[in-house]
Amino acid sequence: MKRFTKHTVKNSLKRIFLYRASLTRMKLLGVEKIYSYTLSDETGVTPDQIRKDFSEFGITGNKRGGYDVNDLIDKMEKIFHRNKDHNLVLIGMGNLGSALSKYNKFVHKSMNIVATFDIDPFKQKIRSDIPVYSLSRLKEIIDRFKVKVAIIAVPEIAAQEIADDLIKTGIKGIINFAPVLLKTPADVIVNNVNLCDELESVIYYVHNQMKSDSAKNLEQLYKGTKY
Ligand code: NAD
Repeated sequence: MKRFTKHTVKNSLKRIFLYRASLTRMKLLGVEKIYSYTLSDETGVTPDQIRKDFSEFGITGNKRGGYDVNDLIDKMEKIFHRNKDHNLVLIGMGNLGSALSKYNKFVHKSMNIVATFDIDPFKQKIRSDIPVYSLSRLKEIIDRFKVKVAIIAVPEIAAQEIADDLIKTGIKGIINFAPVLLKTPADVIVNNVNLCDELESVIYYVHNQMKSDSAKNLEQLYKGTKY
């Protein structure tokens, strides 16, 4: 049955990204052992929360003697299945799709965009580093490369139809850039990425911060005033 997808990335998983980034930086600085309170200083997450997150993802370690940085990074990489390659397809080779298809960090992380698709025949190029196919070849290519995850970068109006077609071919995970809430079966994971929402959340916090700073300044001003 189709429904509005509710899959959002859990906060604990987002924190694992944060820990991994921080640990990777420490590894570069030559740090070998780390305690949860050190990781807490680096990430702003409480040591209790860090231990809870580690336990949720089965990350164990010697709390007294500290955690081994390399071991922690390895365990985090395993959470994201970094030990194997993941083939991806991308639909919509416009401004965003073309930029994403050229982003080489995906490859470094074993995520390979093996094929892209576009409705526009002028954009279809089979003989290219990352081929751009017509949608009529969606199933054939997805089957050939055993693709399970797709990126949608088509206009809002086309996104649901593309999602339906992808799901029919066996796609189980979608990263959706189109500003639309996709309806998908319960066993399909959808992660909506919306830069406008991200920007609005930063704007919200910046304004809140400014409001609270000016309230503090006023308070200081009144405190210093003698009647
Ligand atoms: P664009 O118009 O440059 O590119 C869209 C591409 O999709 C075009 O190449 C077009 O030919 C192709 N297309 C259209 N219908 C199609 C279909 N049915 N099947 C296959 N291909 C199809 O647009 P853009 O700026 O690259 O944006 C793409 C999408 O991403 C839009 O939905 C936009 O709103 C969204 N977007 C999201 C973010 C974000 O942060 N989430 C940022 C920018 C853009």
